[in-house]
Amino acid sequence: MTEEPSGSNTENIEDDDWHLYANAGYGAAESVEAETSVEEDEDTEEEWFDGDDFYHQGASIDWDSPPCPAPLGIAHVIKIGVCDFCLHRIGGRRTKSQGFGGGAELRNEAYARDSELTKFETPEICPLCEDLFDDVGNIVERIIHSVDGVGFKSMQLGIHLPKDLLQSEDAIRTKHGSQGSRPLKASFAQAIQDEMLLRSPEISFVKDYPDIMVTVDTLTLRVDTDVRPVFIYGRYEKLVRGIPQTRWPCRSCRGRGDGCESCEGTGLQYRESVQDIIGDPVKTILDASDTSFHGMGREDIDVRCLGSGRPFVLEIKNPKLRELELSLIEDKINSNDPEKVKVNSLKWCNKKDVSRVKETRSEKSYTIRFRIDKPITEEEAIESIEALSGVTLEQETPKRVSHRRAAKTRKRRVTTISNVLVEGQEIQFSLRCEAGTYVKELVHSDEGRTSPSVSSVIDRECEVLWLDVDEIHAD
Ligand SMILES: [Zn+2]
Ligand SMILES: [Zn+2]
Repeated sequence: MTEEPSGSNTENIEDDDWHLYANAGYGAAESVEAETSVEEDEDTEEEWFDGDDFYHQGASIDWDSPPCPAPLGIAHVIKIGVCDFCLHRIGGRRTKSQGFGGGAELRNEAYARDSELTKFETPEICPLCEDLFDDVGNIVERIIHSVDGVGFKSMQLGIHLPKDLLQSEDAIRTKHGSQGSRPLKASFAQAIQDEMLLRSPEISFVKDYPDIMVTVDTLTLRVDTDVRPVFIYGRYEKLVRGIPQTRWPCRSCRGRGDGCESCEGTGLQYRESVQDIIGDPVKTILDASDTSFHGMGREDIDVRCLGSGRPFVLEIKNPKLRELELSLIEDKINSNDPEKVKVNSLKWCNKKDVSRVKETRSEKSYTIRFRIDKPITEEEAIESIEALSGVTLEQETPKRVSHRRAAKTRKRRVTTISNVLVEGQEIQFSLRCEAGTYVKELVHSDEGRTSPSVSSVIDRECEVLWLDVDEIHAD
């Protein structure tokens, strides 16, 4: 009896953290910046006075000037050298234009009020944004380039800004900006989003579960794109023995590099798996990079899975195509290796269904056939075996899995036993039992580790010939 390695698929399961960090600072414009505003205000200001970074054109910051939109406030932020974009952002005045244009309007109005202000020429760099808003067009170009050829509808932006810039911006804005001015990070994300929408109006920007996650590092202007996976739920039938459920790396080389002699360079212990028979055609048709396979439990390699099949979720990574008629996908899968694996009931699902499917425990029906070491009358066999119907088994962790499971005794109920068939020294029967029952052990007793067992009630050695899963009573 062969066993698949435990957790062979777990390295593919991503956690949910990505969208937590990615979401920081984008979308929730009002609340997100709380971390750098109220509580830290005092400290930040103190640090501020210690430094000498904030002299611009000979004018140090005048902490006593009123905040925008007061004319003196606007005059003051012009003196310290804010760019037009930031002037508009924190000015608190209605303008005809937005962004740089709006700031230019405010600047010209201020110059008209006080011509002395024109002496404060454009500074080298804006103390609020370090001229970040000049890069918006460039960043948008990079984003568009990075998603070239990828089909998607929704996008989430994550912006990484240096913490010290965020802190100093926050200190100036909360002191001199008009009340409710948008923080730097949210404004910057909005500026990128607005520019993106000019180019591709059909994109929707979301805070959760985007098709594409884009992170922008403002220090390097590096843009990283993460195409989120798509998920398909379905049920599979495994019609032959000898195929593992998931891809199983070669025991000798562990699937590293170019494989080895024993796996003929494939890196695989078994050339085929349910995962790849289902996943390969989907990978091709959606132009994806790889798949992960999440089954509702798994059968042993030598066990077939029949009936309506075993529920699974196929995770398709980096798909260039995210939408397709499921009947088309089903046809592709079912024509890949129809003698071996078939699927039904496909539907698009999401990441949450992965844990739901993996955690569901349901009753199963099996048929098992075994050989006994000495003859028995049909009546005795049928009577003894049927008597196990309704019995609760005590099963110690089987020897065959003890290397990867903690030793413990579990109680599992046999719901029904039916169709006992005696053919010479071979016996076959069907049963329905609780999730997690070791069915082979129920028959051969695993040297007494399972009690009672077929072997104990008929007082014969039993050698299991084959086992089929007839039905998984789930979903
Ligand atoms: Zn600026
Ligand atoms: Zn190998």
